[in-house]
Amino acid sequence: MEHLIVPTFVIGADAKVLIWNKACERLTGFPAAEVVGTADHWRAFYADRRPCLSDLLLERRYNDIRTLYERGGNYGLSDFGVSAEDWCLMPRVGRRAYLAIDAGPIYDDYGELIAVVETLRDITAQKRAQIDLEALATRDGLTGLANRRSFDVKFGEEARRASRDLLPLSLLMIDVDYFKLYNDSQGHQKGDECLRAIAHRIADTLWRETDFAARYGGEEFTVVMPNTPLSGAMLIAERLRNAVEELHLEHGASLAAGVVTLSIGGVVGRGRDLDPVRLIAAADAALYCAKRSGRNRCIVAKFDDAHSIAAASA
Ligand code: GH3
Ligand code: MG
Ligand code: MG
Repeated sequence: MEHLIVPTFVIGADAKVLIWNKACERLTGFPAAEVVGTADHWRAFYADRRPCLSDLLLERRYNDIRTLYERGGNYGLSDFGVSAEDWCLMPRVGRRAYLAIDAGPIYDDYGELIAVVETLRDITAQKRAQIDLEALATRDGLTGLANRRSFDVKFGEEARRASRDLLPLSLLMIDVDYFKLYNDSQGHQKGDECLRAIAHRIADTLWRETDFAARYGGEEFTVVMPNTPLSGAMLIAERLRNAVEELHLEHGASLAAGVVTLSIGGVVGRGRDLDPVRLIAAADAALYCAKRSGRNRCIVAKFDDAHSIAAASA
């Protein structure tokens, strides 16, 4: 066990370390001489005292695995062993590592638990790759906002929740005015910078934890505001429109203003069967209406009124 390539240590029935192998020394920076014979093995992984997986197995505290680790559980029957994954601080080497941890029991001939062997695998690189992939799948690369895919998921969830709890759900569709002309006059690169600045401004202007902004596509953004009635949605829409106007991003070719501006269409739904697709269509109708009536403005309506307002302005 001393020379096993897998970082491994063993604790006895008294929870004191019996074996601490060379790979474990290399991983944690903790020499065996310091830890063998003590119950200080936690110090190799954490800054504050807490049980390691082997301690939980020894004490049969299986239910604590889920609360103490990011992932974890039992292999079939708990008495065969447990596994978990988590970030460990590893104070001695000063490097946070994501470890996959297995703890297996050792029984004597009478079936009594006499020791637990814990093995560790450093899977930090895989974990980071997974985090990056998840970010790629849910974030928009240009602006860092949530992407269309996460918007669809999130808005679907919020529509279900609002229907269940009978709470108002607000949706804003935001579109940059004359952005094609902006690209034409300033260049595509500046266009990208402009979209980034707008996205940051939108994110900074929303301060409620539950409000959710996404890049819907191209120069269009959405904001989902759970439990927000018409008055609140109007206020936030106007605040967003104003916040971007105040960035004073020179446009030069806009027919609406000298600077980059937004048109915002919003809808507030409330009821038992809120349909995300119909809410988006209604917000789009309100946006169309804001465009038709001169741009650089917000039109927010109750769901039942949105289409009739749009029809009237067409
Ligand atoms: P309107 O006021 O009616 O919205 O006019 P508009 O020009 O903004 O509308 P239109 O939909 O015709 O043009 C949208 C433009 O947004 C066209 C497209 O080139 C530009 N655009 C979309 N995505 C990006 C992007 O990622 N980067 C840049 N630079 N431009 C983009
Ligand atoms: Mg557009
Ligand atoms: Mg536009």
